[in-house]
Amino acid sequence: MKETAWNWIDTNRDEITEISDKIWEYAEYGLCEDKSSKLLAETLEKHGFKVKTGVATMPTAIIAEKGEGKPVIAVMGEYDALPNLSNKRVPHKEPLIEGGMGHGCGHNIHGTTALAAAIAAGKALEEHKLKGTIRFYGTPAEENFSGKRIMVNHGLFDDVDAALSHHPGSLNVATLASSNVISGCRFHFYGKSSHAAGNPEAGRSALDAVELMNVGVNYLREHIIPEARIHYVIEYGGGQPNVVPDYARSHYYIRAPEQDLLEPIKERVMKIAEGAAMMTETRLEADIGYGGYHKIPNRVLSEIVTANMRAVGEPQYTSEEYAFAAELAQSIELEDRETALRKNKVPDWEKYVDKDIVTTIFDAWNDGTTSPGSTDVADVSWITPTMEFNTACNINGAPGHSWQFTACSGTAVGHRSLIFAAKTMAGSVLDLLTNPDRVADAREEQLKRLRGKTYDKDPTVEAPLEKARELAKEYMGKH
Ligand SMILES: [Zn+2]
Repeated sequence: MKETAWNWIDTNRDEITEISDKIWEYAEYGLCEDKSSKLLAETLEKHGFKVKTGVATMPTAIIAEKGEGKPVIAVMGEYDALPNLSNKRVPHKEPLIEGGMGHGCGHNIHGTTALAAAIAAGKALEEHKLKGTIRFYGTPAEENFSGKRIMVNHGLFDDVDAALSHHPGSLNVATLASSNVISGCRFHFYGKSSHAAGNPEAGRSALDAVELMNVGVNYLREHIIPEARIHYVIEYGGGQPNVVPDYARSHYYIRAPEQDLLEPIKERVMKIAEGAAMMTETRLEADIGYGGYHKIPNRVLSEIVTANMRAVGEPQYTSEEYAFAAELAQSIELEDRETALRKNKVPDWEKYVDKDIVTTIFDAWNDGTTSPGSTDVADVSWITPTMEFNTACNINGAPGHSWQFTACSGTAVGHRSLIFAAKTMAGSVLDLLTNPDRVADAREEQLKRLRGKTYDKDPTVEAPLEKARELAKEYMGKH
């Protein structure tokens, strides 16, 4: 049964990598992934999936399914890119489009893994007359507007029995770490413009407010839990120095391991923003984003995925691929690689300091920990047992959201990991379709880990399309 799926992936390797490469080239901003989602939807249709697009108020969202009835096994694919991370398919920093978007988180592979796994498992489902449904979720805007959260709020995951997704990373592991809750907020300050030299006394600088707020928040850091994260950018700070800026804007992310740990920090950041407005006699408008959820890991699903990774076997890289990785590795410090391995408590980390590509398939070692990042996969994990596994698409020690990741995601190193991940996912989907006991175990574990907590759904949540299109114009103007 798995052979049917894996043979399909082997036979169609070129088509699969071509799709990934096309999405890599499109490099579209979240909620505006028009070409990428069209390509995925058309491919699914071609392979006999019933396809719906534009669900949950998002034109680029997709739900496609094959088969019938229970269980419903979902695979999720992302395809949004990141600003300022454009890079050519070369092992050094050289933007393909200066200041352009790039797949610095490997979401071109994320979406294509799920696509290939769904189609391949679908072939096995037909050929071996299996019961149940394989459902592909095309989930837009992971990086900027949390598309899965909108789909969850619209109830689109309610009948799913288990969900899988694959995130490119630098290790092969079906991780058991949770993820931080995240809250995004834009702070708009409105002041009064005036000639900065001629009439400074008449002006009230909105930029001063942004700067003072940042200073206040940086003092706050000492007095919050160490697991929390606060980071910001100044999105607009004025036009030119001789005009007192009457408008300025910062964008903050605040993160903590659970919602009740996040809320008090958010309130204190808000007080600092109000204080900054008061000090500068400017007006504050806070555009508060969502307070999401932390990820509920699942050991049952982790074990299924790990067993499938081992059944597929460690990817074998060619000497050219190792040479590419070695050249790329020159852009990172050995010390940073060591820090990354130690920080993540990778078992026997010393063994991997000299490796540019880590091929080992790990057992998940990090149950009970929280990774500092956040993902909208977490929202899905509250609704249905969910596993997002990683494979080594990126070189060892290179940061996430980096030009190095963009380079790897569009070349042979990424392709090899994509095929490995697609086979792993297809095998795992087939295991779940044919083992109702394991699906029940996964559900039982999820409920135990939720400790009676439930997801508070709001079916009226809408995607901020206008805002996204405006920002896309800014970021993709050069494309
Ligand atoms: Zn990502």
